[in-house]
Amino acid sequence: MLKVKVWSPLRERILEISGEDLLSCYQCGRCSASCPFAPYMDLIPNMVMRSIQLGIEDVLKANSPWFCATCLTCKVRCPRGIKIPEVMEALREIRLREKYDYLNPLTIDQELLTECPPMGIVSGFNKYSK
Ligand code: SF4
Ligand code: SF4
Repeated sequence: MLKVKVWSPLRERILEISGEDLLSCYQCGRCSASCPFAPYMDLIPNMVMRSIQLGIEDVLKANSPWFCATCLTCKVRCPRGIKIPEVMEALREIRLREKYDYLNPLTIDQELLTECPPMGIVSGFNKYSK
């Protein structure tokens, strides 16, 4: 069962890291409609915003922040001017500060390792590991 909190430590942490108070999101869904990676996300961007509003900490387990490519499309289109990529980054930071690695080097396909440019691998580790 989902635990919904009126005062949310999660929302406060997101505010502290990203500077965004997500209470201003009114769930229009434009961010999700314009996100090129929404089809791959557990929770599409407006659902991520709603989960944070309600203090649903399970949002930290969603793959959505890791699929966010920081393309800024959602940020440009949000009628409330919410910096959604910064919120996604804040979620990644919270996870990484808990020493959670999304990318396990032992599980990377050997073929990918030989074909992927080294800079791509380094960028992946910068984004996905502590
Ligand atoms: S576009 Fe902005 S206001 Fe609309 S759902 Fe997304 S974050 Fe909320
Ligand atoms: S910045 Fe991230 S969440 Fe926003 S549209 Fe691009 S990929 Fe989607």
